[in-house]
Amino acid sequence: MLAYDCDGLTLHRHQPRLVVLPETTEQVAAAVRCCAEQGVPFIARGSGTGLSGGALAETDAVVIATSRMRQVLQLDLENQRITVQPGVINSWVTRAVAGDGFYYAPDPSSQVACSIGGNVAENSGGVHCLKYGVTSNHVLELELVLPDGSITTLGGGLPELPGLDLRGVFIGSEGTLGIATAITLRLLRTPPCVAVLLADFASMAAAGEAVRLITGAGVLPAGMEMMDNPCIQAVDDYFGLDEYPRDAAAVLLIELDGHPLEVKEAVELASRLCLQAGAGAVREAWSEEARARLWKGRKSAITALGRQFPSYYLQDGVVPRTALPTVLAAIDRLSAEHGLPVANVFHAGDGNLHPLILYRADQPGVGERVSALGGEILRLCIEAGGSISGEHGVGSDKRCYMDWMFSADDQATMQLVRRAFDPDGLANPGKIFPTPKTCGESARRLVELQAEGVVLPPEAVAF
Ligand SMILES: Cc1cc2nc3c(=O)[nH]c(=O)nc-3n(C[C@H](O)[C@H](O)[C@H](O)COP(=O)(O)OP(=O)(O)OC[C@H]3O[C@@H](n4cnc5c(N)ncnc54)[C@H](O)[C@@H]3O)c2cc1C
Repeated sequence: MLAYDCDGLTLHRHQPRLVVLPETTEQVAAAVRCCAEQGVPFIARGSGTGLSGGALAETDAVVIATSRMRQVLQLDLENQRITVQPGVINSWVTRAVAGDGFYYAPDPSSQVACSIGGNVAENSGGVHCLKYGVTSNHVLELELVLPDGSITTLGGGLPELPGLDLRGVFIGSEGTLGIATAITLRLLRTPPCVAVLLADFASMAAAGEAVRLITGAGVLPAGMEMMDNPCIQAVDDYFGLDEYPRDAAAVLLIELDGHPLEVKEAVELASRLCLQAGAGAVREAWSEEARARLWKGRKSAITALGRQFPSYYLQDGVVPRTALPTVLAAIDRLSAEHGLPVANVFHAGDGNLHPLILYRADQPGVGERVSALGGEILRLCIEAGGSISGEHGVGSDKRCYMDWMFSADDQATMQLVRRAFDPDGLANPGKIFPTPKTCGESARRLVELQAEGVVLPPEAVAF
């Protein structure tokens, strides 16, 4: 049970009572049916890389883990689609079809470990989602086990279907509507030409200005990622790659893809705009090997930081791109006030910030300080016109902040949808929404709504 006591958010831990490891849809259905009959809550779990405590077994719930459901069920290259079991690892999908000139676009930085089922539940993003869209843009059909143990299908082989988009409702529902047991994904053709630029800047504000100029000029990079100096130094210390200038305040990685002529033009324009924003130098990488070298530091930044600090809390807020410089400066200020170092590595093109609060778990009271700083950073994002989550979901970690974005009536409406799938509230209870038990005052209005006759799941009003 120890291995299942947390997900990627190690700040909160609770061992489940039981873990079930099914291999087929029928076995998932049998386990869920058994839970339904006994009135026992259950929690779907993929690879456990989630960063919002979504797979955390807070209650005495049964964990149903999909890590033995790793089969490719069907490959239909002519129609550019693949059907996989939910435990298939994200990067395996591209690996399975790369030889035929295809790939699966959504690529979370955790792609060598996270599962497709987890990606669907979190509507995960990644480096290439700036141009190609997040998971919901790439899922065609879902086979589900509903919370009563029945099996159903949402969506179909075509991208657009008439009727209500229930497939869209399920994607991003964080395990609260049932368990995805087979997923049909869209495959894209590998672009004929790809180039990566690396630009270094003397300030985060200058790097933010480059992002603004590039997007403002109508260039749509496949990915545009930013790292600050603590990340650059950590990567340099760890890998000794010598790729990122050690003293730069920020580096920007820009990937451009498409037809060779289009890429050449975009590379020239983006380089010019980086220099205009104050870049010290702009390097170009065209071969696969040279591109991989430039990306390696970005993709391993969190691992590299782990050498300096054994624990981290990775926040996931969103701000409008134009607010990046001011919000980053404010995060720096908050980090100093709270006495906790914060490193920044994030999807700059989407305005999706990932401030990484670094700490040592053995320091007394550090958990509360880390959570408080995380909350203040999200408050900044909301005040800048952004959101409390870009791609990691709400889970158990951010449910008490839902009130900052949604009124009690909005949340009650979402709960109505949830109840339509899960009338008894057995699927991942207590996640996403504040409850009186978990968030006290912030759930008060929900209790009032129940008194007014709105039907809410039991945990939404249980003290
Ligand atoms: C180093 C690192 C980098 C990361 N980078 C990114 C990134 O760039 N972009 C990004 O979006 N995320 C990122 N993440 C977060 C995480 O990897 C994603 O949220 C991922 O989709 C979680 O997948 P998982 O299989 O680990 O899911 P889990 O952590 O096991 O579960 C996550 C949620 O999904 C639900 N769930 C799992 N499987 C199913 C299923 N079959 N049916 C229904 N519900 C299910 C669970 O109940 C839970 O609520 C990163 C994480 C780490 C540790």
